[in-house]
Amino acid sequence: MIVVMREGCNKDQVNHVVQLVREMNLTDHIIVGTERTVVAVIGDDRFKDRTVLESCPGVDRVVPILAPYKIASKQAHPEPSEIALGGTLGATVGGKRICVIAGPCSIEDRPRFLEVAHAVQEHGATALRGGAFKPRTDPYQFQGLGEKGLEILAEAREQTGLAVVTEVMSISQVPLVTRYADVLQIGTRNMHNFNLLSAIGKADKPVLLKRGWAATLNEFLLAAEYIIQGGNPNVILCERGIRTHEDYVRNTLALGIVPAVKRESHLPIVVDPAHGTGRAYMVPAMCRAAVAAGADGVMVEVHQDPEHALTDGAQSLTPDAFANMMQETRTIAAAVGREL
Ligand code: PEP
Ligand code: MN
Repeated sequence: MIVVMREGCNKDQVNHVVQLVREMNLTDHIIVGTERTVVAVIGDDRFKDRTVLESCPGVDRVVPILAPYKIASKQAHPEPSEIALGGTLGATVGGKRICVIAGPCSIEDRPRFLEVAHAVQEHGATALRGGAFKPRTDPYQFQGLGEKGLEILAEAREQTGLAVVTEVMSISQVPLVTRYADVLQIGTRNMHNFNLLSAIGKADKPVLLKRGWAATLNEFLLAAEYIIQGGNPNVILCERGIRTHEDYVRNTLALGIVPAVKRESHLPIVVDPAHGTGRAYMVPAMCRAAVAAGADGVMVEVHQDPEHALTDGAQSLTPDAFANMMQETRTIAAAVGREL
């Protein structure tokens, strides 16, 4: 970091900063300019509290140089990470091939889920999604089938070979969900649940980490850092839209995060335009845009009868609409040197 002193600060104030820097086991280098003095701090200051320096007399501001996340950063791992998802079809995310995670919002019952599973597999999905534990705003609405849903999910994997992705909402669910799922989803509401992130860091399955709907890029990557630091390097980031003032959409899909993540991190990023817009008619266009922007995959909701879906029908594609989306997105993938 660089400590920029105020104009007209005195020697004692500079010396005080130097002393604090040394107490932090870091090295200082004072540069006296014509208008300002700055103290360049040398060493890994990522884990030091820079607000201490910021509040010292004579200090104008402190400019961090290193990002606070370390193992999630590109410096730590310059090559993009490619993560194997599981299933029997060799699915991965982060390589040349665009990953498509598709399926209903929730697992509602066995016949309907298996039908959708086969439909998305036939149209080229990479992985199958479906919630068994649902984070619902309203406690009176469908909460998911729980373990019964996980059994159905595992059966769908057996039948289709697709890797299966499902949400884990609490630490106590981690062992159960890990037994059935190939990829553990952390939902937007739990991105800041640091104990859960650490617990999932001990799991031996890849994690799909959704961005908190009010989280900054920095907070998002620090949440990934919690998981990796816990011992699990296989983190897939997922942009799912943020809360803004807009009301023609459920959330605002912040696609600018895709190139930003690519610049900052080696982790793959997928985009979820279903939750990111809340409107089925927007989903195909946003899938194309996500791939054009450099995303490694998309996650979409698919239901054979969206009007009667128990959750998120308005943002669910029918199997036919899914097939069209795949076709259109394939053209974009080819145009940007990817495959689908
Ligand atoms: C979901 O994927 O069904 C879900 C609940 O997503 P989010 O956590 O992004 O709202
Ligand atoms: Mn949903």
